[in-house]
Amino acid sequence: MTGKIVKVSGPLIVAENMADCKMYDVVRVSDKRLIGEIIELRGDKASIQVYEETSGLGPGGEVVSTGAPLSVELGPGLMGGIYDGIQRPLPELIRISGDRIARGVDVPGLSHTQKWEFVPTVKKGDAVTAGDIIGTVQENEVIQHRIMIPCGVSGTIEDIREGSFTVDETVAAVKDKSGAVKQIAMLQKWGVRKGRPYREKLSPVMPMITGQRVIDTLFPVAKGGVAAVPGPFGSGKTVVQHQLAKWADADIIVYVGCGERGNEMTDVLNEFPHLKDPKTGYSLMKRTVLIANTSDMPVAAREASIYTGITIAEYFRDMGYNVAIMADSTSRWAEALREMSGRLEEMPGEEGYPAYLSSRLAEFYERAGVVKCLCGGERAGSVTAIGAVSPPGGDMSEPVSQATLRIVKVFWGLSSTLAYRRHFPAIDWLISYSLYADKMADWFNDHVAPDFAQYRAAMMRLLQEEANLDEIIRLVGIDALGPADRLTVETAKSIREDYLHQNAFHETDTYTSTAKQYKLLKLLVDFYNLGVAALNRGAELSDILKVKSREKIGRAKYIPEKDSAEIDAIGVELKAEMTELHS
Ligand code: ADP
Repeated sequence: MTGKIVKVSGPLIVAENMADCKMYDVVRVSDKRLIGEIIELRGDKASIQVYEETSGLGPGGEVVSTGAPLSVELGPGLMGGIYDGIQRPLPELIRISGDRIARGVDVPGLSHTQKWEFVPTVKKGDAVTAGDIIGTVQENEVIQHRIMIPCGVSGTIEDIREGSFTVDETVAAVKDKSGAVKQIAMLQKWGVRKGRPYREKLSPVMPMITGQRVIDTLFPVAKGGVAAVPGPFGSGKTVVQHQLAKWADADIIVYVGCGERGNEMTDVLNEFPHLKDPKTGYSLMKRTVLIANTSDMPVAAREASIYTGITIAEYFRDMGYNVAIMADSTSRWAEALREMSGRLEEMPGEEGYPAYLSSRLAEFYERAGVVKCLCGGERAGSVTAIGAVSPPGGDMSEPVSQATLRIVKVFWGLSSTLAYRRHFPAIDWLISYSLYADKMADWFNDHVAPDFAQYRAAMMRLLQEEANLDEIIRLVGIDALGPADRLTVETAKSIREDYLHQNAFHETDTYTSTAKQYKLLKLLVDFYNLGVAALNRGAELSDILKVKSREKIGRAKYIPEKDSAEIDAIGVELKAEMTELHS
């Protein structure tokens, strides 16, 4: 059935004669065949958000429903993909239509002609159920794609093939209980607005190691956890997200760029393909899927991009991978939501955002998590979601920041004061938190050092004491402090400068393993503890602050991982020097 446009309002159009359609059906609009999605149905009128420029459209234009919801194509070929918000491959779009992407271009998410080497892992007669892995495709040097039985299919393997296939060709046949045979291809389609099913959500127990000291040591995020990085413009959000993409110990990265600033996304597009993956030595793109909305794309595509991203992330989690999805920034996504809501003439909530802003945000973050995958056997995977928030003017009381804070468990609050002082990453230790920290403490104690959590707590305490003492210093000057407090202030300063400060652009400093983090952490806290002991023996504070090893502690973070025995040597030297004082 064909509908007719009755109204065009920017990216929103209203069409009549649409009674047969369903919510979230994808439609093609006008003779230009623009891609849109039904977001409201009233009587026979449908409101449609259009993912492409609507200029030139007018009443009377045709609207045809495809009868299917907005879906992504899942299968070999995803890795390294650079897509727009509705999974159209950008390089392909540009090849077809040049830099200014033409409208109505139909390009599938995956190549349907490329052949992939399928290696079966089941044999004829095996019983299979939805989610079971029936074979693998080595997608590139880094990622093995695991081909799963699609949802709703179970039975026995009637036929299984080996060799080169396109994503559409049959690789297996499954006979169900009734005797009906279903042909299985590698391609799966999935509606982006519905989470992919899993067996059970598990409680996160291990951290996602990022190599960023302030994150891993003080505010760790769990594998399968949810985190937010809010911060004003220029505070280093993008660098934090890039560092995570490069270094986090996730198997797969899905990076959703919601058109922060046009050139910024271009940065990602230019930078990512050239980044070397420190784990494999290959390009980072080999294990990354990029979803990019450049600023010249309509807002509706931004709205969809976050769902496209999380669906792809879930698909790889189903295979048993640990996936990290980064959304930069959820504020731009919320603005898209606000614009559509305004055009729908919905009742506006706070600051014009729709009343369902929080529930939509929650729906996105809820799709993260560690899960027992859908399958006959035992397999687990995780999706860790990290959202950047960019509150206008850095004002955290605005609705998107507030709604996000209610949902996420980790908050890395970037501070413009720190950024101004060139303290990077500008994660403010006094306002940031991780609700996973206590749970992760066991992991750090078991896997890094038995007293890791104890040292971490000592570091946190010193930083907090410094903040309290700061007040006094501001009022009466540092000379009013006793030697013990002076030692606290001096140690906290070293913690800030020699530990929390981490230069993303320095070859060694850009990543610190947890083992090295522990060594550095221990050096700093030991300096304090040994200093207190020396003071108690009657040593002079000035002598404590002058010990030779102190200067070496300051440079320890630049010692390469392979030479980290040198850090232990500094510890030994420190202890000897300190013990000698006034003994
Ligand atoms: P935002 O995305 O919040 O606007 P950016 O991430 O672009 O901010 O950071 C702004 C600038 O701050 C960067 O260009 C860089 O010079 C500096 N910067 C941020 N984080 C770091 C870091 N970890 N190490 C060194 N420099 C940093």
